[in-house]
Amino acid sequence: MKTALITGVNGQDGSYLAEYLLNLGYKVHGIMRRWSTPILGRLSGIQDNERFCVHECDITDSGGIFSIIKETRPHEIYNLAAQSFVGHSFQNPSYTSQVDGLGVLNVLEGIRLNGLEQNTKFYQASTSELYGKVQESPQNEETVFRPRSPYAIAKLYAYWLTVNYRESYGIHASNGILFNHESPRRGREFVSQKICQGVVKCLKNGKPILLGNLDSKRDWGHARDYVEAMHKIVQYKKPLDLVIATGKTYSVRDLCILAFKYNGIDIEFTGKGMQEFAIVKNIDPFTNTVISLGDTVIEVSEKFYRPADVEQLLGDPTKAKKILNWEAKTSFEALIKEMVEACKV
Ligand code: NDP
Ligand code: GDP
Repeated sequence: MKTALITGVNGQDGSYLAEYLLNLGYKVHGIMRRWSTPILGRLSGIQDNERFCVHECDITDSGGIFSIIKETRPHEIYNLAAQSFVGHSFQNPSYTSQVDGLGVLNVLEGIRLNGLEQNTKFYQASTSELYGKVQESPQNEETVFRPRSPYAIAKLYAYWLTVNYRESYGIHASNGILFNHESPRRGREFVSQKICQGVVKCLKNGKPILLGNLDSKRDWGHARDYVEAMHKIVQYKKPLDLVIATGKTYSVRDLCILAFKYNGIDIEFTGKGMQEFAIVKNIDPFTNTVISLGDTVIEVSEKFYRPADVEQLLGDPTKAKKILNWEAKTSFEALIKEMVEACKV
């Protein structure tokens, strides 16, 4: 039986990946940090599976990580633990660097110091945020990195650490350069989830959703599809660094329009910059809401702007298709519909 260790197992991706690997017959060890109250929400479907085992440890604790790797001797490690919210990394840059940078070092050293260089394959959750102020579009494996946040800079360190442990110690260590991926399990501060949950609330209380940069564009996929790519990367005959994306890009404004549409409301944006807002143009007669035609449902607030933003991301998934036969299955429309439906229940 193959054994996998997933750090950040209770996150969005960790929970989908754990389910996926259990379905493939793996024994799955998951690392999550200690909480004073149970937070197994995303893992509720698998917590009783006898092939699933949770270990409590913070990724910044090198001794703890070393001991878990020693005890579990996994065939594969998926390093997904991170302070993953870019916005928060501007407020807590030091903490983000510790977790997203040095945390990765702890896992790689855990492999090396346990003598598992030839036994344990390693996957690092790298990110399209590395491209930051993009130098070309679409972005592929050769595109120069130009990170724009403490999050992305910590992830850049982790990216090169992964390459270095591959080159120095022969570890099958790979970077998945994943573009944004969402799901009903996405953290609520990310813009996709904030909008989907915000629309449902707005329909009930009539209060507009406050957002930042509406012009920002992302290549948004579904997390369920992306964890399959992680697994394929680790199974590949040699370690590599690979872009995983849909190859399509949409603005925050597009996302708002869709999320309202799947709730039976057509909206229209007017104004520019900080003065931009969206009003209701049409309401489906079957929609249960307190809002009326002409009401303002989205406003722009400076509070949600970042000191430096990544304006547009568009990935080129050609190599992933060619060598892994992987491609995104879920369209942007289907993704937002699924997230909206999940918010209604
Ligand atoms: P989440 O934030 O949902 O999950 C991250 C997990 O890491 C959470 O379970 C969190 O635990 C855990 N974690 C945070 N800090 C620590 C710590 N100090 N020690 C141990 N565990 C910790 O992110 P996603 O699942 O969306 O992303 C998975 C990985 O992929 C992350 O590394 C992210 O940066 C990266 N990534 C994500 C993309 C996306 O669009 N989703 C795009 C590209 C890369 P807790 O619940 O306790 O906070
Ligand atoms: P990111 O790509 O990892 O930063 O994912 P997010 O979902 O947090 O943000 C995606 C883009 O949406 C970024 O360019 C943000 O600046 C932009 N955005 C605009 N308004 C908001 C908002 O209110 N919240 C968040 N999280 N992002 C916003």
